[in-house]
Amino acid sequence: MQIDLTLADDAIAHLRLSAAALTISLGPDLVYTLDRSGRVIGVFADGRNLRRGLDGRVLARWRDDTGVRRREWLGAEESEGVLRRMGEDLTRVMAANPPPALASTLTSALAFDYAADIARFHQVYRPVSILPPDQYQALVMQATEGCSFNTCTFCALYRDRAFRIKQPDEFAKHIAAVQAFFGAGISMRRSIFLADANALIVPQARLLPLFDCLAAAFAFMPAELAGREQAQWLRAHPAGMSGVFAFVDGLSAERKSEQDFAELRERGLRRVYIGLESGHEPLLEWLRKPCSAADMIEAVVRMKEAGLQVGVIVMVGVGGQRFSAGHIADTAAALNSMPLTGDDIIYFSPFQPDPDSPYEDLAAAADIVPPTPEFTRKQERAMRASITLPPPLAGPKRVPYNLADFVY
Ligand code: SF4
Repeated sequence: MQIDLTLADDAIAHLRLSAAALTISLGPDLVYTLDRSGRVIGVFADGRNLRRGLDGRVLARWRDDTGVRRREWLGAEESEGVLRRMGEDLTRVMAANPPPALASTLTSALAFDYAADIARFHQVYRPVSILPPDQYQALVMQATEGCSFNTCTFCALYRDRAFRIKQPDEFAKHIAAVQAFFGAGISMRRSIFLADANALIVPQARLLPLFDCLAAAFAFMPAELAGREQAQWLRAHPAGMSGVFAFVDGLSAERKSEQDFAELRERGLRRVYIGLESGHEPLLEWLRKPCSAADMIEAVVRMKEAGLQVGVIVMVGVGGQRFSAGHIADTAAALNSMPLTGDDIIYFSPFQPDPDSPYEDLAAAADIVPPTPEFTRKQERAMRASITLPPPLAGPKRVPYNLADFVY
């Protein structure tokens, strides 16, 4: 449903209500996107894209005068200012008597209690540390908490919590709590991301009941559908999910057989994201990754044979000049040896040292200087040029993955 409303000051508001969202445009420079519960998800204002996370933080992204992408987290006061301005704008729109279907979401938006929503979010979830870029809009379900390794020297994403696996009854309660938290806003989420870092490390006999909990709560789109059929299925099943998506590390993947992956596919698993980081074994050892590139290549082969889609994440710039030549050559060779097809994705993630990780100290001790953006871009270009896999659509997509863009 779409409608133009004339406001009291003669400005035109364009409103579009879909199954997923309400979008309110007050001219080309001011657009609000709300989920169906009235919770604001994004704002475009004054040339900046503002993405609001469920924890209340707001990430602003824009291009500066030279075309360079910029981003910054807004302070609390500025974030509150965004909500205040939105409240004033939505009040003006409500005064123009929108039709009942739109008025109902606008009324929810004007009454939305953000402080209570943030408090509920923290009751339902442990921090959601990271997702793959194509899963930012997923519905996260934390079947496990933390990372079972926490050894990689560049990563501090899960050092704030101990690894643990939920029992099926606890996981079922978590699913119900997540559904209640999102309310009508759940319609914006069309996939499940099974978190945290490596939920697939759970032994198969314990993992299948966790997938059964998901199947009891959601309908999953059949794996055989493609293209237009997928869109039709999603339209016909407004509460249905396109599937389950999850990270896996090489060691966890090594413990799963092709048959295990096939069983998970039957229960809704669709794409698995593996952090290869590099194909260069000396670099992986120096980074203290829990497995070798060869293990990860084998795991990808098994996942593909089980009919799963795969996302392979490469960390560009890590290890600096010292490892650069080996990182480029061996990473391209590792990717080229994977049976990746048009359903798969290679992510190039520019490495930025995390000050909470040991990387910077270890790099300094080894005389490895932090990568500059130019060094990282050059390395990525060299890797891409060495990939001999077919180009999309026959071969995997090659996409950027900047961790700094993540908002849940
Ligand atoms: S990179 Fe992955 S496996 Fe390594 S510590 Fe981080 S979450 Fe764990």
